[in-house]
Amino acid sequence: MQSDEPINGPIAINGAARPGWDEYFMEIARTVATRATCPRASVGAVLTRERRILTTGYNGAPRGVAHCTDAGCIIVDGHCLRATHAEANAIVQGALHGVSLEGATAYCTHQPCSGCSKLLISAGVVRIVYRDAYPDPVASMLLREANVAVEQFVPDPLRTLT
Ligand SMILES: [Zn+2]
Ligand SMILES: [Zn+2]
Repeated sequence: MQSDEPINGPIAINGAARPGWDEYFMEIARTVATRATCPRASVGAVLTRERRILTTGYNGAPRGVAHCTDAGCIIVDGHCLRATHAEANAIVQGALHGVSLEGATAYCTHQPCSGCSKLLISAGVVRIVYRDAYPDPVASMLLREANVAVEQFVPDPLRTLT
């Protein structure tokens, strides 16, 4: 159907309906999380810089190692040690493909643990946006000391995305 409506006319895309950048990348992180192979959690991370995606990661076993879904988790002290965390996998993807993460923003479906926080700091990430709170006092302390901005993403209740 052809339309002669001006671009700012009644059929123009409603600006209020478009997601902001944080929401956009967080939705992508949530999609990435659906690829997780550890049944204990579906976690996703998207590393960006200047509104471009650098790398993505989800929690799962290392390359060449059986997935938790096939071989079972290796649980030690309540944590699965078979799977690599999503944030760590996103950083590893940068190492594998030669993508610098200096100055990046990390969008994480869950608040990063202390181990991943250390990797994010050293990889050069300057801002972390997470959705689900998973408080880790050591992570918070280290991130604060390293001057990494940490923000919880709060979805707009007026939008249909959940
Ligand atoms: Zn597992
Ligand atoms: Zn972690």
